[in-house]
Amino acid sequence: MPDDILDCLVIGGGAAGLTAAVYLGRYKRRALILDAGGSRLQWIPRTRNVPGFPDGIEGPELLARMREHAHRYGTPTEQVTVERLHKLDDGSFRAEAQGRAWTARFVILATGARDVEPEIDGLRGAMKAGQVRYCPICDGYETQGQRVAVLGRAGHGLRESLFVANFGNTVTWLAMATQEEVAAADLAQLRAAGVLVADSPPHCISCGVDDVGVRVELQNGQVLEFDTLYPALGLHHSCELATALGARARKDGQLEVDSHQQTSVEGLYVAGDVAVDLNQIAVAAGHAAIAATAIHNRL
Ligand SMILES: Cc1cc2nc3c(=O)[nH]c(=O)nc-3n(C[C@H](O)[C@H](O)[C@H](O)COP(=O)(O)OP(=O)(O)OC[C@H]3O[C@@H](n4cnc5c(N)ncnc54)[C@H](O)[C@@H]3O)c2cc1C
Repeated sequence: MPDDILDCLVIGGGAAGLTAAVYLGRYKRRALILDAGGSRLQWIPRTRNVPGFPDGIEGPELLARMREHAHRYGTPTEQVTVERLHKLDDGSFRAEAQGRAWTARFVILATGARDVEPEIDGLRGAMKAGQVRYCPICDGYETQGQRVAVLGRAGHGLRESLFVANFGNTVTWLAMATQEEVAAADLAQLRAAGVLVADSPPHCISCGVDDVGVRVELQNGQVLEFDTLYPALGLHHSCELATALGARARKDGQLEVDSHQQTSVEGLYVAGDVAVDLNQIAVAAGHAAIAATAIHNRL
């Protein structure tokens, strides 16, 4: 292979990509991170379930520390959005962005996932204030005893309502007029857990106005107030660079991998939210360690 070919290209510089970079750097491999700069870490007001931080740590600070950690071991970052990924005849990969190209023997795709967002003015501010939260696995513990709304259709919305009720909250499922689709047994389970169901779909949601955490105006004119809202509208795994190469993925974009995080495309590995339903920093780091070590052992 020519000298200018990298050992590994890491696409995405969030929790997974930066952890992969630490491992590759410490294995003395030539790696490069190409990152668009949109890590979901930056929206975490304070995470409290990352091992080693018993008092929690703010997402932006964790991101800064992870970047410093990756660069400490010599893996640089270029801030670009990769537009295309090609598999070349010799088995290596070429990534292209803004008229530039990088070639590597292996790729770790760590492009994350995107939440489907509700229409709320000032959504980012409400996320920072903890009025709108996306991940009850992450921060359901912090909601104990609150008035909580879950916005989502039958299936996901119903499951998340039950999950959040488990923290001793008063939960209202904003069912978006899908409650008719729910089986009688599931409705009975909701009732048993004390979950209320809003019959009328939401018309307008506002946060942080007049000291009210979340105000929801329903289409029938009723106004409800909550401390916290969990949107449960779904997630899209950012898998397009892999599926364009023929990598197998589920309908929602979650990529299929083997036990070493390799996709169905030889040499293309994935780590983090792009490859899993359990969107967690610890999981992203675990994936990255597995993928980086598997690649190191093949080089
Ligand atoms: C509000 C909120 C609170 C959360 N709280 C917690 C918590 O308390 N605990 C916890 O464990 N998890 C929490 N999470 C989830 C956690 O943030 C994610 O699981 C974690 O960031 C996943 O890491 P990742 O590297 O897979 O994706 P990300 O960290 O999102 O990084 C993906 C990176 O890839 C880049 N990228 C995408 N496409 C391209 C491209 N084409 N070219 C170049 N770069 C690209 C993106 O810009 C981004 O920088 C929370 C998430 C949110 C939104």
